[in-house]
Amino acid sequence: MKKVALVTGGSRGIGAATAQQLAAAGYAVCVNYLHNHDAAQQVVQDIRAEGGTAIAIQADVALEADVVRLFAELDQQLGKLDALVNNAGILMQQCRLEDLTAERINRLLSTNVTSYFLCCREAVRRMSRRHGGTGGAIVNVSSAAARLGSANEYIDYATTKGAIDTLTTGLSVEVAGEGIRVNCVRPGLITTTMHADGGEPNRVERLKSGVPMLRGGTPDEVAAAIVFLLGDGASFITGSFVDVSGGR
Ligand code: NDP
Repeated sequence: MKKVALVTGGSRGIGAATAQQLAAAGYAVCVNYLHNHDAAQQVVQDIRAEGGTAIAIQADVALEADVVRLFAELDQQLGKLDALVNNAGILMQQCRLEDLTAERINRLLSTNVTSYFLCCREAVRRMSRRHGGTGGAIVNVSSAAARLGSANEYIDYATTKGAIDTLTTGLSVEVAGEGIRVNCVRPGLITTTMHADGGEPNRVERLKSGVPMLRGGTPDEVAAAIVFLLGDGASFITGSFVDVSGGR
């Protein structure tokens, strides 16, 4: 029987590449999305065209009721969950601290942090041996920004990713005895639509010049690390961080 994986924010970018690589590795994949129904369906169709198994489920992972429904629908349609990729996230326009609003900070926190907690909770309830599960693996997508701080640009976004690093460390210890591994991938600059609304023309080109490898990474390069951490080859790895950042 195929292992089952959920990828939040699987309709585009890193999530879409991860869903495709997981399907190629033999997982039945649930592609979660927020608004982009057509893009999510395209990912599902591409996977099915290659002989894989995939479904798409709309849910705003920042909302508890949506997350509960997402996991219940996944249970019904694909069965026992083996792997969770917490990937859905938002960046928003560049903003210095003195211009930040509580509304913006709360939106970033709910999408980038609350969602990860809620999805981890639902996954652990299903995977934990204590609850009759058989174990599993979780990968949280954080960011190199968690270490760098993104001063003058995205200090709020970077802080949400710092929270994900701490969540990974704490949860990995909390559930290790339950047969659940929790790891983290920290991408650097990856060329996706997330940077389309950056507010500064040529921002991506400027950022590339600060990467030691002098280029942005691809979604597939991040997905490869995620698939490794979820798989049997990483069976004794938990609480670890893999930087996919071209040396940044
Ligand atoms: P994209 O903007 O390309 O895609 C974002 C995905 O998240 C989409 O599938 C979107 O769905 C989904 N999404 C957003 N909000 C929600 C929500 N509330 N509920 C459900 N789904 C949601 O992002 P990337 O692929 O670039 O980034 C993926 C992750 O990687 C993020 O966590 C990001 O912070 C992190 N990252 C990215 C880097 C980069 O340079 N690109 C660098 C470091 C980290 P829909 O299509 O329906 O809108």
